[in-house]
Amino acid sequence: MADVDFIKSRLTSHPDFPKKGIVFLDIFPILRDPLAFETLITHLVHHITSTTIPKSPTGKIDVVVGLDARGFLLGPIIALRLGAAFAPVRKKGKLPGQCVSATYEKEYGADSFEMQADSIKPGQTVIVVDDLIATGGSARAAGQLISDLGGRTIEYLFIIELLFLKGASTLDAPIYSVVQSD
Ligand code: IMP
Repeated sequence: MADVDFIKSRLTSHPDFPKKGIVFLDIFPILRDPLAFETLITHLVHHITSTTIPKSPTGKIDVVVGLDARGFLLGPIIALRLGAAFAPVRKKGKLPGQCVSATYEKEYGADSFEMQADSIKPGQTVIVVDDLIATGGSARAAGQLISDLGGRTIEYLFIIELLFLKGASTLDAPIYSVVQSD
C-alpha cells in the first residue's frame, strides 16, 4: 500500500473549481514527478496483469480505451506495457472516418462521445482508463460504444473514485480505482 499512499500524497484538491461548490481533484502533480508517475503506471499495470487479465476470457487485453482527455495521458503508456492497442473516446466531431456515438448526461445538459468504427474488432477484450469516476456517465457512454463495436469490457480503471456518487454501480463491468474519496 506504500505506493498508493505515495500516489495519493501527490493529488491536490481545488475548492470551487471549475465552479463554486465543486472540489476539483488534480492528477497533474503526479505527472510532474517522474517517480510518482512511474509508480502509478507500474501499480496499474501490475493490477491489470495480476487481476484483470485472469478475468479475461481470452487471457489477454486487446485494446486499452482512454477517455477524453486525461485518459489519453495514461492509456497509451498502459497499452504499450501490455502489448495492447490504444483507442481514444473523443468528444463528438473530433475523429475522422466512420464513427459510432453515444450521448451522456453532464451536470447541465447532454454531450456526445465518439469512437472510430474500426478501433475495436468484435470479440476483442477491452479495458477503459480515465483519471476519475464521478457519476459514471462518461464511462457508461464509453462502455456503450465498446459494446456497439462488439468489444467486451473487462474492467474500468481510474486513479480516483468519488464513492459518494456511486458511479461504479452503473457500469457493465467491475471498476478498479487506486484512490477512493468520500
Ligand atoms: P462522470 O462522467 O460524472 O463520472 O465524470 C467523470 C469525468 O469528469 C472524467 O472524465 C473526469 O476527468 C472529469 N472530472 C470530474 N470531476 C473531476 C475532478 O475532480 N478532477 C478531475 N476530473 C474530474
